[in-house]
Amino acid sequence: MTRVTVLGTGLMGAGMARNLAGAGLDVTVWNRSVDKARPLADAGATVAEDPARAVSEADVVVTMLFDADAVARVMEQALPAVGSEAVWAQTSTVGLDGTTRLAELAEQHGVGFVDAPVLGTKQPAEQGTLIVLAGGSSRLREAVTPVFDAIGSRTVWVGERPGDGHRLKLAANSWVLSVVGATAQAIGLAGGLGVDPQQFLDAISGGPLDCAYAQNKGAAMIDGEFPAAFTLGGAVKDTALIAEAMRTGSTDDRLMEALHQQFRTAAEAGHDAEDMAAVIHALRC
Ligand code: NAP
Repeated sequence: MTRVTVLGTGLMGAGMARNLAGAGLDVTVWNRSVDKARPLADAGATVAEDPARAVSEADVVVTMLFDADAVARVMEQALPAVGSEAVWAQTSTVGLDGTTRLAELAEQHGVGFVDAPVLGTKQPAEQGTLIVLAGGSSRLREAVTPVFDAIGSRTVWVGERPGDGHRLKLAANSWVLSVVGATAQAIGLAGGLGVDPQQFLDAISGGPLDCAYAQNKGAAMIDGEFPAAFTLGGAVKDTALIAEAMRTGSTDDRLMEALHQQFRTAAEAGHDAEDMAAVIHALRC
């Protein structure tokens, strides 16, 4: 039986750990705030007290933490205890430079590294229907397959280099975050012009410009209810990572920079921990 450790049981990691346990894998979890890890004992997971103890028996170590700094800090504690045959599957969104830095950290400790960001938010994480965008050596694939099969409905092996998963992830996230920003813009503009914003969602409903995301996030913007599936703070981080990747990839970053400023304005107004749909706050002048 594959022994898997999940480091980070926030919005995404908790659902992923539950699905790993549900698939019959031997699961250990660790989270900085232990109150978010403890409920996973009910699903059969072992709750560890520190990162090193969490990973010592693992075949696969999954990191699902906020950003590259958080992952590096936790893995600097964990890596000396990781077995020589174990593989690290890095699923947090950390960008291209972040992935290079973490892959180098893995190499320094002789641990196999798979760059494996995911598409899908809290609900797909809970349902085991994420899409894993993987980059890493083909010799590591067999070890991580039971883990990716448990957390996702599909794995796309993008390439052999660490960073290949993230290249596709950042392109996909640029679209996701643009849809949320564009939805906020249309809802904000409708309201500003004295039109019921629901009429905008009704007008696009069922047509070629409709999408479930616009309806879902648009309804949250109209209701003013923002329980987090993906935090505004995460959207600030990811728009910065995407803009940086655009400059690396010789792609004009002005639209992404503008989006980054919108997410940041709403986050700095105190909505950082709310869902990214709370970007609507930045549209009200
Ligand atoms: P989250 O609920 O905010 O969880 C963040 C996790 O990182 C928590 O476990 C948190 O620990 C931990 N953390 C933050 N700073 C830390 C530090 N300095 N040291 C140790 N642990 C630290 O976020 P999430 O939505 O699960 O996101 C996790 C990752 O997945 C992010 O990279 C995000 O971009 C990516 N992602 C998210 C979604 C989504 O829709 N939510 C989708 C795809 C990818 P505490 O609990 O102690 O704060």
